[in-house]
Amino acid sequence: MKHDFYDITILGCGPAGLSAAINATIRNKKVLVIGAEICSPPLHKAQKINNYLGIPGVRGEELLACFMEHALQMGTEIINSKAEAINEAEGVYSILVKGELLKSKAIVIATGIPYKPTIPREEDMLGRGLGYCATCDGPIYRGKDVLLIAYSGEAENEANFMAEICRKVYYLPLYQGTMELDSRVEIINGKPGEIIGSDFVQGLKLKNGSEIIVEGLFILGGETAPDRLIPGLEIVDKHIKVNRQQETNLPGVFAAGDCTGPPYQVAKSVGEGQVAGLNASKYAGRK
Ligand SMILES: Cc1cc2nc3c(=O)[nH]c(=O)nc-3n(C[C@H](O)[C@H](O)[C@H](O)COP(=O)(O)OP(=O)(O)OC[C@H]3O[C@@H](n4cnc5c(N)ncnc54)[C@H](O)[C@@H]3O)c2cc1C
Repeated sequence: MKHDFYDITILGCGPAGLSAAINATIRNKKVLVIGAEICSPPLHKAQKINNYLGIPGVRGEELLACFMEHALQMGTEIINSKAEAINEAEGVYSILVKGELLKSKAIVIATGIPYKPTIPREEDMLGRGLGYCATCDGPIYRGKDVLLIAYSGEAENEANFMAEICRKVYYLPLYQGTMELDSRVEIINGKPGEIIGSDFVQGLKLKNGSEIIVEGLFILGGETAPDRLIPGLEIVDKHIKVNRQQETNLPGVFAAGDCTGPPYQVAKSVGEGQVAGLNASKYAGRK
């Protein structure tokens, strides 16, 4: 990251996030975009788009490349990562990214369609031994056994951190590739089946029938529901509630694109991104 304090931080570099970014950059704001390596997996997959005005039949991949090029030409800073947790104090948001904290006056959430739980009873067990940020909750599990289910290599740092403080760290990778893990971390091969425990996590049963007994379970590197990312964010029918200014219920937090609800379409995402970018700029410009 070029700075540790931004006017506006945008989560997601799909059509909504990039549209917010260029509009805020035009208004001379210090903008950071945080997003995945392929900035918009859904748009990247779209074979042919026939409803984006002026470019009939464009391939999703091609349109995404144009959006990216536009944002980069304007000097937008885009980092390939994921916001892991966000907290507010005295009107400033602190965002945890790659184990580092950065600060921002305003935030635009453009994280795409809502998160779907990946394991049965995941939502019920949240906060009962199940979490999405090991480094945030780590101290609770000091001296205990934990299991980290990892959807991407970004979770390796969290596993290594937990190895410093936990009695035992199990690591279940759901991705391919080489891993840089502390020698104290034990790699488990298999697929998650179901959570063991009724009131609190007691372990995980794998699809092959074996059981790993732990007190803490983390699901890392997958999508994070926005209201888990920012406590207190109002959600209606699994989407972020916004008004026509793309304001959420939290001051300085705006949302745009698929995360605010259907229609899940590029044009709607770009339009909402623009409104969010402009209003976030106005908000960040206040004394
Ligand atoms: C197969 C297919 C075909 C489609 N065809 C069409 C079509 O013909 N016409 C049309 O208009 N639309 C189409 N769409 C829909 C269109 O792609 C989406 O509406 C659009 O991409 C939504 O943009 P977005 O910016 O809201 O979200 P996305 O494009 O989903 O981008 C969200 C980004 O946020 C990132 N993110 C998530 N969490 C975090 C976090 N915590 N921190 C940082 N970043 C995060 C995600 O990784 C992702 O990169 C199609 C979609 C699919 C899958």
